[in-house]
Amino acid sequence: MKIADIYQKFNSCSSISTDTRKLHQDCMYFALKGDNFDGNKFVQKAFDGGAKYCVIDDITANINANCILVEDVLTTLQDLATHHRNTIKIPIISLTGSNGKTTTKELINAVLSTTFKVKATKGNLNNHIGVPLTLLSFTKDLDFGIVEMGANHKNEIKFLCSIAQPDYGLITNFGKAHLEGFGSIEGVIKAKSELYDFLKQNNKIAFINNNDEKQVQQIGNYNNIITFGSDLNNNCVVTFKNANPYVSLNYNNTLIESQLIGDYNYGNIAVAVAIGNYFKVSTECIKEAIENYQPDNNRSEIIEKESTKIILDAYNANPTSMLAALKNIKQLQAENKYLFLGDMFELGSEAEKEHQSIVDFIEANFKNNVYLIGKNFYKTTSKEGIQKFSSFEDLKPLLQDLQLKNSTVLIKGSRGMALERILELL
Ligand code: ATP
Ligand code: MG
Repeated sequence: MKIADIYQKFNSCSSISTDTRKLHQDCMYFALKGDNFDGNKFVQKAFDGGAKYCVIDDITANINANCILVEDVLTTLQDLATHHRNTIKIPIISLTGSNGKTTTKELINAVLSTTFKVKATKGNLNNHIGVPLTLLSFTKDLDFGIVEMGANHKNEIKFLCSIAQPDYGLITNFGKAHLEGFGSIEGVIKAKSELYDFLKQNNKIAFINNNDEKQVQQIGNYNNIITFGSDLNNNCVVTFKNANPYVSLNYNNTLIESQLIGDYNYGNIAVAVAIGNYFKVSTECIKEAIENYQPDNNRSEIIEKESTKIILDAYNANPTSMLAALKNIKQLQAENKYLFLGDMFELGSEAEKEHQSIVDFIEANFKNNVYLIGKNFYKTTSKEGIQKFSSFEDLKPLLQDLQLKNSTVLIKGSRGMALERILELL
């Protein structure tokens, strides 16, 4: 069946679903395959749950006239998203980067939503499935769609851009994340810059953080850009005031006091301000949107337990964000500081070196109360003052005995380490 025909059917549906446990009445169900499942096996369940059509690629699942048999379900989903994007024609803002994408996406969404009708990627749906699903959730009547794009290998952003065709784009930062797939930081920069490549080829607008040398270098002499930064010669001037512990900025003679911690959030907030500024959102609305935004899902959240402040940053970690978090807690004024750091994943052959370099930084900057968890940290060489545990289980007894008073605690590690578990035991 042609995409245009599938599109017609899609338009008569309420929504899209890829999971029979979360179906809406009259949705179009896409029978995707994964390593451990085959959506084609759940077609009857999808119809029983209210699906109007089922897109399948296994002929044995072709159980009635409302099944749409295609060569490949995933490709069809992506093609349908491209077709839909071309039909709705709304302005799309895309963002990628090594760290801070979801935070920045939420901030931009908050700023623009004060004044416009906007829809953005839900949660972290930022890959080859999430981006099409995001686009298919957009409607013609929106003023803007905001699309988060994630990648862990080359050509992924290029592909996602071909589907989303952004009119505006930005890269939050280039950092040492997913080195396994990218090979090196140069690999990261090149792969993330595929967004810039798309914008340049199509003469679309890039928002550039002029305080970030790597961004300036990558965009080169392309001039369809809106710059922001602390310098007066930027299109939008946003000055960093302080992060103690929360980040404050000055914009348009107005103090914006965010609920986000760490210098590293400056760029995330500043680009949301710059986008608001570019689309003429009032200063009051920008201020209100940024000030009301609270991080969630263990992303640099501050939790107060009696006299102790816990920086819960257990959502994810990589060498760049780990170092940023350590520099942040280093400059905070606190009587006692505790570090609970978990392994950083997906670093491939760089894992040993990167974990050691974090340990070296800790030794140079923190004296005691350092607890490192995971197989990679366990293998590093360290002096006394740093305690290492090969697993979370090994750390447990210590947590039960620990008395924290007047302290600031940082909890950070890769998602797989699930270090938020520490919180319950402190
Ligand atoms: P993912 O790759 O999982 O989609 P993301 O890029 O969307 O992640 P966020 O979820 O916004 O990133 O933030 C995750 C964590 O990254 C934060 O809790 C914080 O520790 C760190 N972080 C956010 N922004 C930056 C930044 N600009 N530089 C370094 N670290 C950052
Ligand atoms: Mg994200």
